[in-house]
Amino acid sequence: MDYPLGHPEIRAGIKRLCADFASRYWQECDADDAYPSAFVEALTEAGYLAALIPEAYGGMGLPLSAGAAILEEIHRSGGNAAACHAQMYTMGTILRHGSEAQKQKYLPDIAAGKLRLQAFGVTEPSSGTDTSALRTTAKQEGDRFIVNGQKIWTSRAEYSDLMVLLARTSPVPTGGRKTDGLSVLLVDMREVRGDTLTITSVPTMMNHATTQLFFDDMPVPAENLIGEEGKGFKYILSGMNAERMLIAAECIGDAKWFIEKARDYGCDREVFGRPIAQNQGVQFPIASAYSKMRGAELMLDKALQLYEEGGNPGEEANLAKLQAADASWAAAEACIQTYGGFGFAREYDVERKYREARLYQVAPISTNLILSYIGEHVLKMPRSY
Ligand SMILES: Cc1cc2nc3c(=O)[nH]c(=O)nc-3n(C[C@H](O)[C@H](O)[C@H](O)COP(=O)(O)OP(=O)(O)OC[C@H]3O[C@@H](n4cnc5c(N)ncnc54)[C@H](O)[C@@H]3O)c2cc1C
Repeated sequence: MDYPLGHPEIRAGIKRLCADFASRYWQECDADDAYPSAFVEALTEAGYLAALIPEAYGGMGLPLSAGAAILEEIHRSGGNAAACHAQMYTMGTILRHGSEAQKQKYLPDIAAGKLRLQAFGVTEPSSGTDTSALRTTAKQEGDRFIVNGQKIWTSRAEYSDLMVLLARTSPVPTGGRKTDGLSVLLVDMREVRGDTLTITSVPTMMNHATTQLFFDDMPVPAENLIGEEGKGFKYILSGMNAERMLIAAECIGDAKWFIEKARDYGCDREVFGRPIAQNQGVQFPIASAYSKMRGAELMLDKALQLYEEGGNPGEEANLAKLQAADASWAAAEACIQTYGGFGFAREYDVERKYREARLYQVAPISTNLILSYIGEHVLKMPRSY
């Protein structure tokens, strides 16, 4: 699988960094359900988590494709960027919609690793995918908002200082859209944690520091409103294409990891006096996963190219995420099957990566919702919900 890929220097740098966090490191984090702090610190210190922050604010000022290369290589190395990937796309909300004062206040510290912006609070237990039905309210009282409600699946909240929060600041106006009246607030969780903000962990099938949040009259300074009041849904949507592309890159990294593992094991392991990969029943699922992965990779390249030319490639970003998540899942299936019983033994990492790869069929956007986007917005079929 040696073919030219963009950002070779960044890829080589990530490979070197990941070599210090080998299989044993991820296995131990997984067994202990522990946040990979040392890995995240190393990435931060090397500046990679500030890759997309403009140089004027202390970051590397690199294009989105560089962020994609970073995340892909982490996953290809056997690691998991879910512990920190949100910093790349959550930061975009401030960059695109924040005031100059907000950018000056937060971005340089985020770039320097002094402030962590890892948390993104949108999903709620009762509304699920239907974001417009969220119930968390933020009521303005003088120079602050008072937030009440609940979020679920707010990943990394325990390991983040700041959170981008979507809440309802005004009721749906008569004749307005359900998404009107939602606003984005930047919450400094250090000021409210353990007081008006309660965070409880939600243990999951893979090691993913995700949580449930409860807001009980939580104050947020009015100056932390991002952009205009009531326009928050639009701001969150505007970051979705970048998020889809970055997640697609992680899936492609996972797919490559599974394919390489399956190929190597299949060529080494001899049963009935010959390598198991000589059997086409073993070989074809691996080849098929490779074909899916390469297709997804091309689609991601196209989406990134259009984005970096200033476009907003909804179709390509959604297709890239869909195809990449399908490719990584096909590769995971092929890999665990090729390993046979050993696929279930923790020491080979296959079962861990298998559990981790499954997430991307559901989050951050489920496969059905992407199909629905394509059906409605690309193929112009009737909206289903
Ligand atoms: C580990 C993990 C981490 C996460 N991290 C974050 C985070 O940091 N911040 C955050 O805000 N959220 C986060 N999420 C939430 C994630 O984005 C949602 O789980 C996802 O969007 C699906 O929403 P839901 O779980 O409420 O499912 P539901 O909305 O209840 O949907 C359940 C199923 O029904 C399907 N479905 C629902 N409506 C339709 C429809 N109209 N047509 C077809 N199918 C439909 C969905 O596709 C899904 O498969 C995380 C989730 C997980 C599991």
